[in-house]
Amino acid sequence: MAEGILLVISAPSGCGKTTILKQLMEKISGLEFSVSHTTRQPRVGEVNGVDYHFVSQEEFLALRDQQPSGFLEWAEVHGNFYGTARQEVDALLAASKDVILDIDIQGAEQVRKNADPVTVFINPPTLAELERRLRGRGTESEESLSVRLANAEKEMAAAKNYRYLIVNDELGQAVRDLQAIIAAERRRRNTPQVNRTVART
Ligand code: ADP
Ligand code: 5GP
Repeated sequence: MAEGILLVISAPSGCGKTTILKQLMEKISGLEFSVSHTTRQPRVGEVNGVDYHFVSQEEFLALRDQQPSGFLEWAEVHGNFYGTARQEVDALLAASKDVILDIDIQGAEQVRKNADPVTVFINPPTLAELERRLRGRGTESEESLSVRLANAEKEMAAAKNYRYLIVNDELGQAVRDLQAIIAAERRRRNTPQVNRTVART
């Protein structure tokens, strides 16, 4: 049985990535969302073990410092620690599940060093719209909002390192774009290698 596809999705905070992924998961089967560990406080409505594994800094550092590390990748993002548990991802891929990692640009860089993920970056239509969405969500303090907006441009500059770029303007279209990428990558995986090579005369 072929191993699953590892999908890495990044976007500036407030762009709509979580919203897109929730809709996508309802439309596609065989896809699993890797639940990250984080030291950030849960937002209203977030569920431990579903949205994140919410852990203390001590718990996070203990996992990080295991030999080998308990994390496939980890990073400090907007002042909190986030990491992807290695065991969880390995088990899903081995069971032929396609796995989505919703991680930042630093984490994506680390995964690229150790694996060959399908990488997708999601941009907002404009920075003004990004701010409007982030404010509209109503989850961030003014301080957290400033940090997230200040990081957005730096993050968007890393989009060139990703295989695909999606602009989340109209939500339904963004979900369909991501669906199309996954469908194409699944076909690519199932195509014998010989068909991919260009015949030389
Ligand atoms: P992220 O996970 O990237 O931080 P969210 O999914 O939480 O962002 O979305 C941020 C806010 O923007 C939410 O209030 C969401 O409802 C809204 N949103 C997401 N996509 C769109 C879109 N295409 N058009 C308008 N608002 C959107
Ligand atoms: P939020 O606090 O808004 O849920 O996420 C903030 C940022 O952390 C987002 O860019 C998100 O993709 C990133 N993130 C979430 N989980 C992980 C993870 O496991 N590793 C890394 N490197 N980034 C993560």
